[in-house]
Amino acid sequence: MAYDMTYDPNNIFARILRGEIPCDKVYEDENCLAFNDIAPKAPVHVLVIPKGAYVNLDDFHAKASDAEIAALIRAVGTVAKLKDLPATGYRILSNNGEDAHQEVPHLHIHVIGKRDLGGMVGKPKG
Ligand code: 5GP
Repeated sequence: MAYDMTYDPNNIFARILRGEIPCDKVYEDENCLAFNDIAPKAPVHVLVIPKGAYVNLDDFHAKASDAEIAALIRAVGTVAKLKDLPATGYRILSNNGEDAHQEVPHLHIHVIGKRDLGGMVGKPKG
């Protein structure tokens, strides 16, 4: 099933970006915001998001400027460094669409670390 690529301006991360609901900020620059995940899966679990309105990576790939794309990857690297992850290793991932169980329809990169993260891909539910 195809999922909706229309950006919902009331999604939770859009509301965080507008300051309507709080977040535990880790890093911010002109193009990106990074904050701790509300339900962390590891001792470090940060979400890095572009400030622009992009549903997911496909939308970002199609519409974002080169500067925005570079800024997102740079922000991910900065967050890893701020959290002292390069020494021990860490995982970045982005859930895109239905099969990946994307819950929040605003592009976000998970930065996860500070424990053994096990294998890469889980089993299907059910
Ligand atoms: P997804 O499944 O879309 O890749 O991940 C969404 C992530 O957003 C989940 O890890 C979830 O815990 C996190 N999340 C959902 N709502 C909030 C919120 O209001 N604040 C923060 N900081 N994280 C949230």
